[in-house]
Amino acid sequence: MLIHPFKGVENYLSPSFMMKNHIIEVVIPEDIDSGTELSSAYTRKKRVKIEADNSLEDQKGKIAGQKLTGLPDIEDFSYSKAKGSVKSRIGPTTKAKLSAVSMDIKKETVSVDLKKEATLSISINEGPPANWEKVLEGIRKMRSSDDAPVDSMGCEKAGSFLPPKERRFAVLVSSLLSSQTKDGVTHGAVQRLSEKGLLAADAIIQTEEATIANLIYPVGFYSRKAKYMKRVAEICLDKYDGDIPNTIDGLLALPGIGPKMAYLVMNVGWNDVQGICVDTHVHRICNRLGWVSRPGTREKTLTPEQTRVSLETWLPKDEWDPINPLLVGFGQTVCKPLRPRCGDCSINKLCPSAFKEAATPISKAKKTSPSKRS
Ligand code: SF4
Repeated sequence: MLIHPFKGVENYLSPSFMMKNHIIEVVIPEDIDSGTELSSAYTRKKRVKIEADNSLEDQKGKIAGQKLTGLPDIEDFSYSKAKGSVKSRIGPTTKAKLSAVSMDIKKETVSVDLKKEATLSISINEGPPANWEKVLEGIRKMRSSDDAPVDSMGCEKAGSFLPPKERRFAVLVSSLLSSQTKDGVTHGAVQRLSEKGLLAADAIIQTEEATIANLIYPVGFYSRKAKYMKRVAEICLDKYDGDIPNTIDGLLALPGIGPKMAYLVMNVGWNDVQGICVDTHVHRICNRLGWVSRPGTREKTLTPEQTRVSLETWLPKDEWDPINPLLVGFGQTVCKPLRPRCGDCSINKLCPSAFKEAATPISKAKKTSPSKRS
């Protein structure tokens, strides 16, 4: 039964709401008593309808925007939270609003959207993104002053005054220390190790773990990294005569060394570019630019490894080595993690994520608050 001006409906039952063709119908059992106030039932019904309509518009807008541009939303970005189907991209706010509502979106509409999305994702994964060369050139110009921390204190700068074998070990140690740590802090720790002659495997194994931990403090996880340094030094002495492994697999077998570091060390230490070094800056910026996506989808990548694989499908190999310091410095100075300086960014007309940071959850909440709507 479809209801209109019922009196005090909420005093008697919990109506079930069905959303059909974007219109809310309030279904009330036949035996309801209609003897109370009209106004509250009217107000409540109106509010629920507006909220549901707004939510639907939000979702339609989001989905339409994604179809057009394949854009990642900065504020939705999560490295660890998996997102799947179109339905699963409905945000938590919408889910909460509709928790008492049974959604009945027409199945044929969703299936058409999915087909379109699949087609688009195939085209995205098949070739380079539009305007990537212009974007890259724009970033190069913004980075021409070389004023980012990575330019003077990045891992690849470690031990640059040393002979090749010692330098490789210094780059390996610097990479190990760099995770979860700012470049300046890593650089300071490497300098203190260097002053004590502790950028060599044999010197490290002769030094107390606690001494190493004190020297590298305050790098992130300094105690664990001191332990890793001792173990790495042992392995390098035992297996590689004090040098470092010359393969990705060999490097990944060392404690505390992940893909990001392994590719960097191969590039810098052995001048052997086997892959792109993707850290958190490269990962974030590539997603903001719409340069990467998960295989077979238009979704953002969830991990730096997914970003590396996606980026390597289209980025020319001669860009694999320079792209890391270029984007790391860009991320440190302009395209920052929390508040990217889109107003100062020369590629903001080409970037699908430009100025999206302004659409914070707080401002969205203000836009959709009942008092603003009424
Ligand atoms: S426009 Fe903004 S989000 Fe896009 S690359 Fe520039 S700073 Fe980053």
